[in-house]
Amino acid sequence: MALLDRDGVLNVDTGYPHEPEKLILIGGAAAAVRRLNETGRLVVVVTNQSGIGLGYYDEAAMDRFHAAINTAFAPEGGHIDAFYFAPYHANAVIERFRDPDHPDRKPNPGMIIRALSDFQVDPRNALLIGDRDTDIIAAERAGVRGYLFPGGDLDAFVASVLSTEDGKN
Ligand SMILES: [Mg+2]
Repeated sequence: MALLDRDGVLNVDTGYPHEPEKLILIGGAAAAVRRLNETGRLVVVVTNQSGIGLGYYDEAAMDRFHAAINTAFAPEGGHIDAFYFAPYHANAVIERFRDPDHPDRKPNPGMIIRALSDFQVDPRNALLIGDRDTDIIAAERAGVRGYLFPGGDLDAFVASVLSTEDGKN
């Protein structure tokens, strides 16, 4: 399984992005996802979406944004198998999403643990790519190897990650 953070990894983090027409893919993202698909790994997004709790947009809007990501990848033959999101925030205006330390919100590992469980994947057979320390901490807490994407071309980075992973097997 390849677990991917969303904003800053697959799409440019423009600040709570959720409008499909404003989706800007990171360079090489479509090819990177196809490359991961072709290894036989499930490709799963794990994304903090506190903008939902904060009332900036709703889950349906997020779902449309996720559909737009897959639509944008389709011409290159890549696809995301599943999306997990954490709508929680300490200051959420929606009460059920108000939580200062929800187990799903990265750096907590809840989404990762659930994805591994849902698809019955051993954490040792998973990797995570994120652009923030909180992503990497969440991965470590779930027993998953984390790789910090420094920016640039995602496909080149994924190729290097996969060569590192091959060296571990
Ligand atoms: Mg990010």
